[in-house]
Amino acid sequence: MTEARHGRERVLVARGLSKSYRIGEVDVHALRGVDLDVYRGEFVVLLGASGSGKSTLLNLLGGLDTPTSGTASFLDHDLSRASEAELTRFRREHIGFVFQFYNLIPSLTARENVALVTDIVARAMDPAEALGLVGMAHRVDHFPAQLSGGEQQRVAMARAIAKRPDVLLCDEPTGALDYETGKIVLDAIARINQQLGTTTVVITHNAAIAGMADRVLRMADGRIVAAEENAHRLAPSELRW
Ligand code: ADP
Ligand code: MG
Repeated sequence: MTEARHGRERVLVARGLSKSYRIGEVDVHALRGVDLDVYRGEFVVLLGASGSGKSTLLNLLGGLDTPTSGTASFLDHDLSRASEAELTRFRREHIGFVFQFYNLIPSLTARENVALVTDIVARAMDPAEALGLVGMAHRVDHFPAQLSGGEQQRVAMARAIAKRPDVLLCDEPTGALDYETGKIVLDAIARINQQLGTTTVVITHNAAIAGMADRVLRMADGRIVAAEENAHRLAPSELRW
């Protein structure tokens, strides 16, 4: 049992969480009844083949989407019953998202991209502080086109964490990056989790990344089919793939 789970405060809870899409005459079952508890401060890695339901699960936990049946909750809030406006507020206040593609505004500097978020939430960090946490203090006035892919992803991470979210949700954050750059981004994610205590869920199809986690969940065909706890978490520099 790792340190992060001693407190055992459940931050995210899924019960019977299911999502289906109707495509013409066919129902696609993207998620088939997932039960999951994610604890405060925990680092969870979600593995699984393409199409296994990883993104669907993350999007439901983060209030980007609503389930067909079952519930997703954040602390005492049942997201499955929330209105669009409530979900928007929930995401803004509590969740940081990082995706494979960085979605930075090209005409704004790194600092200005982060300030888009810090300007609209209470108790946000200074953009420069958030950029410093991901090792980008020396690039605050650069535009996205002047940054490498890994640097752009770290700006996207600074934007996600600057509001001090309770939860950081990362969907294939290194999917577009080379090996070394991917490790730098993973290192930044691990540091945020440890320094800020941010509950973190990272989707990847790279099984080597599982060594960084407190807990590793494997998905197949819309279900969680295996869960393991790591006795020790590895630093990204110790991972090999
Ligand atoms: P993963 O992230 O593991 O690759 P997804 O959660 O994206 O998997 O998708 C799970 C299944 O749901 C796949 O079969 C996918 O094609 C289907 N799916 C996901 N989103 C949609 C959508 N908006 N419309 C129709 N089918 C979808
Ligand atoms: Mg996906």
